Amino acid sequence: MRLSQMLFVTLREDPAEAEIPSHKLLVRAGYIRRIGSGIYSYLPLMWRVLQKISQIVREEMNAAGAQECLLPQLQPSELWKESGRWDTYTKAEGIMFALIDRQDREVGLGPTHEEVITTIARDMIRSYRQLPQNLYQIQTKFRDEIRPRFGLMRGREFIMKDAYSFDADEAGMKVTYQKMHTAYCKILTRTGLKFRAVDADSGAIGGSGSQEFMVLAEAGEDEVLYTEDGKYAANVEKAIALPPDVVTSPFSSYEKRETPGTETIEKVCKFLKCSPTNVVKNVLYQAVFDSGITALVLVHIRGDQDVNDVKLQNELTKLADQFGGKTVISLTVPDAEAQQKWAAKSLPLGYISPAIADDYIKPSKEIASKFVRFVDQTVTDLENFVTGADESGYHVVGANWGKEFQKPALVVDVRKAKAGDRAVHDPSQTLQTARGIEIGHIFQLGTKYSQAMNATYTNEQGEEMPLVMGCYGIGVSRLAQAAVEQSYDKDGIIFPVAIAPYHAVVVIPNVNDADQVSAAEKLYAELNQAGVETLLDDRNERAGVKFKDSELIGIPYRIVTGKSLKDGKVEVVQRATKAVQELALDQVVPTLK
Ligand code: ATP
Ligand code: MG
Ligand code: MG
Ligand code: MG
Repeated sequence: MRLSQMLFVTLREDPAEAEIPSHKLLVRAGYIRRIGSGIYSYLPLMWRVLQKISQIVREEMNAAGAQECLLPQLQPSELWKESGRWDTYTKAEGIMFALIDRQDREVGLGPTHEEVITTIARDMIRSYRQLPQNLYQIQTKFRDEIRPRFGLMRGREFIMKDAYSFDADEAGMKVTYQKMHTAYCKILTRTGLKFRAVDADSGAIGGSGSQEFMVLAEAGEDEVLYTEDGKYAANVEKAIALPPDVVTSPFSSYEKRETPGTETIEKVCKFLKCSPTNVVKNVLYQAVFDSGITALVLVHIRGDQDVNDVKLQNELTKLADQFGGKTVISLTVPDAEAQQKWAAKSLPLGYISPAIADDYIKPSKEIASKFVRFVDQTVTDLENFVTGADESGYHVVGANWGKEFQKPALVVDVRKAKAGDRAVHDPSQTLQTARGIEIGHIFQLGTKYSQAMNATYTNEQGEEMPLVMGCYGIGVSRLAQAAVEQSYDKDGIIFPVAIAPYHAVVVIPNVNDADQVSAAEKLYAELNQAGVETLLDDRNERAGVKFKDSELIGIPYRIVTGKSLKDGKVEVVQRATKAVQELALDQVVPTLK
């Protein structure tokens, strides 16, 4: 493609609508244009990126035995009424765009496709001999998000790869799920992204188990908790998902004590006069409950809070009483003097620890280990504690270093917990936190939809059984932007080669120089012929503008037919490292191929 002929417009200024770097860069570099709230056009460069990602997804899904298809986006309400999701999706959650057609029938624009695929399976799958099956599509999804933002990250119209599997039993479904897990790891590795698979909440999709694939980036809307050894990793959402019956549970120390979590934190915020965003930094809440006797609450206080503030002291005492446990105060600003003052206070409410008075947002090893030791005084062995605890109820282990505090981070259902259960991390390991962008999500659905919609098959014994399902999503358009969020510099985007719209751009510094033009044209033709997808910047612009643009759009290699042409050489610049190499004309193709 010749840039002189392409609809290619770059912007020098950041667009007002964009908050995060990837969004700014994609608009500035001419990859996307906003059409309405959460509605974007994918321009030619972006479409190539999306095609590349889709192709990687397709290859790995096919290799894992899945079959590509395309399902309708217009979905009759009857299907959603059968599964029981119509009201939730159109009213309670309001995530589904619903409309009335000219025949007065209700239809929805597909936010997801469990209902459609289950009705197909109900009609087509009769016998165990047809199992397992796994179907996928790559398609635009519609979701009327409450807060569309960050460009393609949270659109109201976006591209998703969604797959749905059908197995004869739970064991078969788990095998398929594992295959999808492996396929997802391969896909993300191939796209060149740094990612982490974490335990996740199944949300409105439902089912028993699920994992998310998180691309680690500061702008991520999700928060991930993980241990250093990597054995435990979960989305905070998962951790805060209280089982629905927790309130009525006979042994619910957490709820019986009535408050921890949101309400307490709200109180603390109110008292400390900090906004929920400040809570992010200023208030840390840590709760560890053992068999209903001990609670530990950590309240993180700003360094500038007055030690002699009686109201504050009283409030903290009240907090401690309320939990019947210990309240640990630590200072966000590790100012030695302030620490000493607090330590000297020996408040009646409990334990003041200047030792852990550092920023928990990124606890250093030493501080973290002190913290763990402190917790250990209360609960010696978290694992034994959980497995040996009252079988009838729930225990709450809280840890939250992140933004928007909601509820304790880990909720362990001891009725289900087994020794070595991943739900509880190794207590000698410190919980770390990171921001993540949810790129993929895989679910063990079980029989939720097949039972509701009566999708059954006949097993070897002639019995009618519900199909056991899984579903697996990847946000293709979100991934494209996440790649940028993970890889850019002050000059623009740095696309990983695997998903870059083009591999190389040949820049003619001066289009009035016939030698430069002919050398460039030749390279352009040869490179494309050799399979190196190449752009030609033959615009009648200053060289500086062209260099800037090539950096902004993030093409991995730039070839310049400039000064050294007289020695039969061109300059090859690698976008990521900016390393410059002079290559003889006939060496360009073999080097870049
Ligand atoms: P989120 O928590 O970010 O709202 P989700 O859990 O609702 O995502 P899923 O139903 O699990 O999303 O859908 C599968 C994938 O589709 C997600 O992992 C994500 O990559 C992508 N996705 C979901 N919603 C959007 C959106 N509004 N814009 C772009 N991609 C999205
Ligand atoms: Mg969502
Ligand atoms: Mg989610
Ligand atoms: Mg999800």
